[in-house]
Amino acid sequence: LVAFLLYLFYLVPPIGQLVQGGVQLQQGLAAMKRIKEIEDLPAEPAEPTGVHDDAQPVGVRFEDVVFRYGEDRPIVHQGVSFEVPPGGLTALVGPSGAGKSTVFALLERFYEHQSGRILVGGRDIREWPLGELRGALGYVEQDAPVLAGTLRENLLFAAPDVTEDELLRAVTRTRLDDLVERLPEGLETAVGHRGVLLSGGERQRVAIARALLRKPRLLLLDEATSQLDAVNELRLREVISEVARETTVLVIAHRLSTVTNADRIVVMEGGGVRAVGTHASLVGADELYRELAATQFLVS
Ligand code: ADP
Ligand code: MG
Repeated sequence: LVAFLLYLFYLVPPIGQLVQGGVQLQQGLAAMKRIKEIEDLPAEPAEPTGVHDDAQPVGVRFEDVVFRYGEDRPIVHQGVSFEVPPGGLTALVGPSGAGKSTVFALLERFYEHQSGRILVGGRDIREWPLGELRGALGYVEQDAPVLAGTLRENLLFAAPDVTEDELLRAVTRTRLDDLVERLPEGLETAVGHRGVLLSGGERQRVAIARALLRKPRLLLLDEATSQLDAVNELRLREVISEVARETTVLVIAHRLSTVTNADRIVVMEGGGVRAVGTHASLVGADELYRELAATQFLVS
């Protein structure tokens, strides 16, 4: 059975990306990810949920990374190099197909890169025990679904053992308190397709809260492409800035408000990194960045 689950685990992530709306599958995937984490955790300081206490933020380094999804597939990363310092907010931007989401897939080790090195916390990801690596990463996928169940269940399912205080703190940090107050039964209200429907901005913050409860040392956030209203956009910006004060945040940004706040921006194009800088420096120095900024990054 374990072998079968492991097999599924390796098989399913690419499929999972194709059917992003598949709530059941997502649920299954997350459960499998947890099973895998439990399997891989080293004997001693292990916590089965992969939740870390007092874990320091980690940085990332891509060194000349070359990657293709399969032998007969085109090269996606043709020598990608960039650095994300520990702590703070780094944004990845670039046109659709540039290879941004693939950066996250490689960090999670859903796929193996063909050459070059990827370091997390200064350590080659091939040398991290897989469960420990994934336990260190919080991954908020693009347009993350809300699962059927209560809001509490949605928040706790990846970290069932957190305390009530930690849960409430995550709710506050992600500016979900208004939502909790508004819901007829607060955290116990059913949400998702069988319950109260949440807005895109609320769903995204639920996904961020869920990831934060696992105390990631690096938060990977693939921003939703859907439009947010002004209030939700402001809240998202506040949440990202606040989280970036405590851990490392690497965000695939589709919003100008996210990049103007970033400590550094990595501009990807055609499977490579074309420029790195701040919003102000890139607007002056990089034509593609200027164009993307002018369209508010509303690309996938
Ligand atoms: P971005 O996030 O910048 O839009 P991606 O990293 O998603 O770009 O995709 C980069 C390239 O890799 C695209 O050509 C895309 O079609 C291809 N690609 C992405 N995911 C997969 C996959 N699971 N299998 C095969 N090809 C993929
Ligand atoms: Mg993408």
